[in-house]
Parts: sequence; C-alpha cells; structure tokens
Amino acid sequence: KYPYDIASIRADFPILNQDHHDGVPLVYLDNAASSQKPRQVLDVLDQYYRQYNANVHRGIHKLSEEATAAYEDARKKVRRFINANSRREVIYTRGTTESINLVAQTWGRTHLKAGDVVLSTQMEHHANIVPWQMLAAERNIIVKYVPILPDGTLDMEAYGHMLHDEPVKLVAVAHVSNVLGTVNPIEEMARLAHENGALILVDAAQSVPHMPVDVQALDVDFLAFSSHKMAGPTGIGILYGKRALLEDMPPWMGGGDMISTVTFEGSTWNGLPYKFEAGTPSIAEAIGLGAAVDYLMALGMEHIHAHEQAITEYALERLAEVPGVTVFGPDAGQKGAVAAFAVEGAHAHDVAQLLDAEGVAVRAGHHCAMPLHSVLNVAATSRASFYLYNTFDEVDVLVNALYVVKNTLVRG
Ligand code: PMP
Repeated sequence: KYPYDIASIRADFPILNQDHHDGVPLVYLDNAASSQKPRQVLDVLDQYYRQYNANVHRGIHKLSEEATAAYEDARKKVRRFINANSRREVIYTRGTTESINLVAQTWGRTHLKAGDVVLSTQMEHHANIVPWQMLAAERNIIVKYVPILPDGTLDMEAYGHMLHDEPVKLVAVAHVSNVLGTVNPIEEMARLAHENGALILVDAAQSVPHMPVDVQALDVDFLAFSSHKMAGPTGIGILYGKRALLEDMPPWMGGGDMISTVTFEGSTWNGLPYKFEAGTPSIAEAIGLGAAVDYLMALGMEHIHAHEQAITEYALERLAEVPGVTVFGPDAGQKGAVAAFAVEGAHAHDVAQLLDAEGVAVRAGHHCAMPLHSVLNVAATSRASFYLYNTFDEVDVLVNALYVVKNTLVRG
C-alpha cells in the first residue's frame, strides 16, 4: 500500500518518536505551519558547527572554503530540485515572506506605477497580500482579488476577465492554499498572464514541500518557498526568478557581499545571485536545506505526493463520518495535504486544545488568511495538515479524538 517504507521514514524523525504528554504519543498534524526534520538534516547542522563553521565567500582559509563550498552546493541542489535554468536564479532569503517582499520592494518599485493592478486571489496567505497592499499605499497601485467558487477552487472565468479588462502587471497567486488545499492551475494561469502582458509570482510555500515543481515547465516568473515546511531548518527560503528579470531588478538590502565595488561616492552591484544576498547569510540553514532536498529527492517527490494524497483522501473520508464536522475546500484528489474544518457548536481553539490533550497537534485560527475566512464566513477553523511521515493510523487517532472533543464540548 505504501509507496515507500513509512516505518523507516518515521525512524528518521526523532521528534516523532517521543510522547506528547506522559504516555500519549505525538500525532503531529501541523505540517502546513512547519514540518519536522529528519536526522539527516539535524546531523548536517551539527557537523557544520562542529567541523567547518566559518563565514562564506570571504576567508582564504580551509574552513571558509569548506563552508562556502557546502553553502553553494546547497544552492545547486535547490536548482536541480525546482529545475531552474541556472544557480544564479536561486536566491537565498529567510523564507516565503521575505521572497515576496523582495519582489514587491525591488521589481514592484521599479516596474509598477499609479493605476497598475496586482492581481491576487481570495485564498492568499497574508504574505501574498500585505506586501502588495504596502506597495499600493506607497505607489497608488491597485490590488485586486480573483474570487473563489463555492467548491473552494479559483474562479478561472473571473481570472480571465480580470486579466483582460484591467491593467494587470503582476499575478500573485498561491500554488496550493494553506487552508483550502486548493491546487491552482499555475501552468494555465502563467500562460494566460503572459498572453495578457503580465508576469506571475507563485507562492509555493505549500507546494514545493509536497509535490514535484518544475519552474521551467510551469513557466513562472517568480516562485517563493520556505525550507522549514520541507524538512529543512527555519530562517532560510528561496526566491526563484527568471534571470533576465533578476538582472534588471535593483538590489534590496545593501551591505557586504552584494557589492562589486564601494567608494565614498557610491557602489556597484555584485552579480546574481549575490546582488540580493547582503550580509552574512544563514549558512548552516542553507546547508541544512540542501540536506532536506537530498532527503526529499531520495524518497522521490512523486512518491511523497502519492502518499500524502492517499492520507488526505482517507482523512476526508473519515472526517465526513463525524456528525457536525465540515471540511472546507475541494474534494480529495483536487487538493493538497490540508484539511481545515469546523466542528458545529465548538470554537476552533477549544477543538485544538482538546485535540492536543489527546496528543494530536493541529492549528486553529485564521491561518494567516483572514480575508479568506471572511469569504468562507467563519471566524476560525481547525486545520489538520499532513506530511510524508504521517500514517493512516494517525488519521484514526485524529478522528477518535474528535469524538472525545465533541462529547466534551458539544452538548445535546
Ligand atoms: N504562503 C503560504 C501559502 C503559507 O502557508 C505560508 C506559511 N504559513 C507562507 C506563505 C509564509 O511562509 P513563511 O512564514 O515561512 O515566510
């Protein structure tokens, strides 16, 4: 049944093999917020600090050369992982949020003028709304949102109209919604954006960790994701951008490493990718991300995806059996490994707290998607989200725990 050996995979993740509370095993279902890390990643972080900790791109000594080689090697791994054309198109950032802000502050400031439209969607994470709103306040650009249909998919007809009828310069869209799980048709959206003279930026925070993503096949202009959601460390993420666009963009932060020459009168910029990497970067974290990419590629993204799809389908089936539980978003087969749900008569936070007592870690709230929750007309949802190490048994634990929650919270 399993496309890979789940027992040995789980053995790689030390945190999964500890009790959550005394005698209650941990069932970690908050993977959309952050994933756990395998020992292969933990060991690499430890080795870096113990054996070759030094600054990169600077020292003419062995440790610095080793650190630089490992740091740049990780970039090459990421390039292969997303099939970017060149390592120069792979910019290290702190994560998805910083990647999107970088594009807004550099490309946005130089290419958008008053009246231009950035087309976002109703299902975006705040990270793909707020940077555009900040730019709108500064530049008088307009941010519009493609609506969603009642089944939680994007209204592609409205998308076509909005692209055609408005002066859209950039489409800023999530590949996979972190609440609904909706998988947006990025290849088609990119083609339509380009036909209408717009660029497309994809928030891939919830896709790159879970499915094969090929930036050239999708033909996207910018793509952002975070290491910590894909078995890697926090504090590091990626901005992919097409080379010509990145070459044309001014730098964002100024400082060491991003310059070519500096005089008292002015400075010139380093080439890609360093132009966007001012200061000492997250070295250990980048190397750790490289180890996470190795781990994911060894399992195979198509196998990870198939496993998560099976788990999600089973979870949706089992959740549908629980009276009073409503799951938001499209049906199984059309969504990522996310199930955001409401329990009739119970607040999402109370649900999450009681699930926690049963050992089940889920998230509750608006999941950084307040506008989407207003469209769904719910204040908050509870969210179970799965990753490559979750099992069918854990779905059963979640569902059994939900019956306990209902008995405690919902009377009559
Ligand atoms: N976009 C989406 C769809 C996300 O799920 C998240 C993480 N919750 C982000 C952006 C932001 O990622 P980060 O906090 O790692 O920058």
